[in-house]
Amino acid sequence: MTERTSDRNDDHYLGHALRQGHLMAAIDQINEPWSNSIIRAAFMGIRQFEAFQQELGIPRQTLSLRLAYLVKIGLLRKQPYQQQPLRHQYRLTQDGKNLHENVLASWSWDRRWGDPGKSIPHKLVHSVCLHEFKPVLVCEHCEEILTLRNVNAQLTYQALPSMARSVRNHRWRVASTDAAGQSQRDILAVIDDRWSVLLIAAVALGFHRHDQFLQVLDISSAVLAQRLKRLGQLKLMKKTPDPQDARRSLYRLTQIGEGLFPYLLTITAWGRTRQPGADTIHWQHKSCQKSVSGRMVCSHCSQAVLPHEVIRPDRV
Ligand SMILES: [Zn+2]
Ligand SMILES: [Zn+2]
Repeated sequence: MTERTSDRNDDHYLGHALRQGHLMAAIDQINEPWSNSIIRAAFMGIRQFEAFQQELGIPRQTLSLRLAYLVKIGLLRKQPYQQQPLRHQYRLTQDGKNLHENVLASWSWDRRWGDPGKSIPHKLVHSVCLHEFKPVLVCEHCEEILTLRNVNAQLTYQALPSMARSVRNHRWRVASTDAAGQSQRDILAVIDDRWSVLLIAAVALGFHRHDQFLQVLDISSAVLAQRLKRLGQLKLMKKTPDPQDARRSLYRLTQIGEGLFPYLLTITAWGRTRQPGADTIHWQHKSCQKSVSGRMVCSHCSQAVLPHEVIRPDRV
């Protein structure tokens, strides 16, 4: 993991890379409320409006708008399946299918750390080896398992002017709270909120202090305070006193927070396919020294898992 001292110049570029790079470009497209849920449902084989509605419990009008949006940005395509009356189904396009590894990463996180009652597949079977499996993130060069602890972040100092966009204030998905006032952990409560994703990415990149977050993310104090509190409640981040200055705190990812690394890596890789060009943050695998995008493989046979090779026996 990167420990970053305050090199203001470096911080400036890294902040720029975070706010305007491929991670941001990717989450900007799919973090509108419900988009992630609809994409996950589409990967579970749901195609028709009524089925999405039943599965997700979205208000009909919202569902209609979200589906139209996902068609517009090219992740779903609308296809007639019945003429009288005319009815359509929604299928993933190639760009949508390219989110497969990211969806596997998010399911995997939810299965391990999220609320067990969620409507996500409880079991996945790999149709190639016919075994139940867990998706595992590995280096695509040397096939070792990748975690935040065995990579280094590297920067290339290239601005991405064509992707410049400001971070807008964003609606905040409220996770449900149980009787004890405990937030139920759900990856959607994190990934539907761009500030939370950016904050986790900032800590993953080696920033740990409040003043660094303000500078790197260009976030307001109030929004930052709310997100830090929230991510603490969800047990994704923990606060410890700064040994160098007792008045300050350091924010670090917990094991649960670090568990989002496969999500961050795969969504960034997807962002790169959507908007190719110079990348600004690279993750280098410490063992093989190569820059990695990651690959999700089957925990049983170690082969890459393709979208059509995933069977969900609990949904049959
Ligand atoms: Zn490697
Ligand atoms: Zn397998």
